[in-house]
Amino acid sequence: MGSGDNQQVQGAVAPTAPKYRKQEQEPASRTITEVAPGVLRLQLPIHLPGLGHVNCYALEDERGFAVVDPGMPGPRAWKELQDALKRAGIPLKRVHTAIVTHSHPDHFGGAGKLRRETGAEIVTHKSFRLRWNPTETDDDVDVETQALASSSCMHDACDDADHDHTARHESIREHDWNLPAPWGGNPPRPDWKRRLRWNVLRSVPGLMPTPTPTTRLREADTVTFAKREWVAIHTPGHTADHLCLFDPTEGTFLSGDHVLPTITPHISGLMKFADPLQLFFDSLDKVREFSGQVRTVLPAHGHPFPDLAKRVDEIKHHHVGRLDRLREAYRELGRAATVSEYSHYLFSPRAQGAMADSESYAHLEHLVQQGGAESHRRTDGMLAYEVG
Ligand SMILES: [Zn+2]
Ligand SMILES: [Zn+2]
Repeated sequence: MGSGDNQQVQGAVAPTAPKYRKQEQEPASRTITEVAPGVLRLQLPIHLPGLGHVNCYALEDERGFAVVDPGMPGPRAWKELQDALKRAGIPLKRVHTAIVTHSHPDHFGGAGKLRRETGAEIVTHKSFRLRWNPTETDDDVDVETQALASSSCMHDACDDADHDHTARHESIREHDWNLPAPWGGNPPRPDWKRRLRWNVLRSVPGLMPTPTPTTRLREADTVTFAKREWVAIHTPGHTADHLCLFDPTEGTFLSGDHVLPTITPHISGLMKFADPLQLFFDSLDKVREFSGQVRTVLPAHGHPFPDLAKRVDEIKHHHVGRLDRLREAYRELGRAATVSEYSHYLFSPRAQGAMADSESYAHLEHLVQQGGAESHRRTDGMLAYEVG
């Protein structure tokens, strides 16, 4: 680039704002980078609102490669994975393992096909489960998965103005799409078009090969990849089955969606736990313990970063801010209010809907569990909260 180019830039009317406000929105770069010893970062395109890529890390050893979160299911994503592997100089047959951080499709999607094509092992947390797998008994409904069926699926969950885009990237868990929301009112389900596409995807054999884990890790289990040991850390919150892996030798931390650089993972109120937000806080505290030994955090979206403790604190601060906003909302309203009413204080108008309500519910229930709020069921079936 010559000086003439610089002059042109300087003469521009106004500096242009960065095109992507959040790292996680950036489209997949075709550049392959070594982000830790023996660890390559491949970026795979994903087409979810608010997320432009998923990082697929390739961990090299004598046997070949373990890949972490090999992208979405489907033929296009499979081609993109093969293309990225080729650019990284990794023959498909050398992939011996797929490590899946959690049960969202942009993470597990390619694992089943990899196993089919290369016989790769599939490593997950012990509690990994997918709703559509008929051998699984859990009845979770995963809205992120439904996004596969509709590119516009999560537009209505676009998050609040200043921080977090992750209501688009979440799991809603419920007992039955036809049951009312636990906070009252309409079932928190996607519209009929999405449900129809979802049912088609589930019913056509082979359209979404479901990965069956060959190794289910328990807390503190160790596995060897990239010629060193990694410790399994169960980090429930974003999903119940979320797994992080920590390598004490080089200080590398695979954080999945648990700790992302510039967005916060969505916490659903529809998990089967009384206080999913507390679960997430506990998982943040758990990983923070390792921060003194961590040199590089490798998130599933966005760029690697060095300071785990700092980012954990920011994420907690964000959620504490939301709890404060609920208290302010109650003071402003001066009366008990429903989950949807509180949701309008936490999320922008275009974010309103089942997912925003689900996250608001998680925050309100957290306050109830902590003794900072009370709820009662109104005669119309709606839960109403007073926040102290
Ligand atoms: Zn996720
Ligand atoms: Zn993700």
